[in-house]
Amino acid sequence: MSKGILFIISGPAGSGKGTVVKRVIDTHSDIGLSISATTRSPRPGELDGVHYHFITREAFEGLIANGEVLEYTTYCDNYYGTPVKAVNEALEAGKDIILEIEVDGAMQVKRKFADAVTIMLTPPDIQTLERRLRSRGTETDEIIVRRLARAREEVALIGDYDYSVVNEDGKIDECAELVYSIIKAEHAKTTRTKQIIKKFI
Ligand code: 5GP
Repeated sequence: MSKGILFIISGPAGSGKGTVVKRVIDTHSDIGLSISATTRSPRPGELDGVHYHFITREAFEGLIANGEVLEYTTYCDNYYGTPVKAVNEALEAGKDIILEIEVDGAMQVKRKFADAVTIMLTPPDIQTLERRLRSRGTETDEIIVRRLARAREEVALIGDYDYSVVNEDGKIDECAELVYSIIKAEHAKTTRTKQIIKKFI
């Protein structure tokens, strides 16, 4: 059995990547999602162990010290990181897994897993991004301004990604299907299907 493929989806807050990724996972049971650890407080409706593992700074620093995170970063004063064990287990079991993480973490993972596939999801433009962030109503003005600044920095790194996908308003299904097409296409890459030659020689 071949190993699963690691997919990394990044995109600024407000790019809609959470919704798109959820759609991909909900409609394709063969793909798993890594649940990150974070020191940020849960937003209304977010559940521990489902959306994130919500932990203290001390606990997070323990994970770092014990080498239990594949990558981590600080984002708007909070730690975010990918627990390594669950990712390795899924890949070994032949399951594709998506990491929904920001650019710094994405590049850390790419250095460790050269064949990981990176996808940058963007909103159509910065005005749409700001409108989406404000309409959430969950963040203060100060946080929104910081997230917008970070968004500009993140999108500037799009050239380091393998794919870019635009998430237009009201087109979640199309966007999720495009992401899924990328996942399928990656399985057909000749670099991943070399074993097929053995059946012909
Ligand atoms: P939010 O607070 O909006 O849930 O997430 C803030 C940012 O952190 C998003 O860009 C999200 O993709 C990113 N993020 C979430 N989990 C991780 C993680 O485990 N590692 C890294 N590097 N970024 C993460």
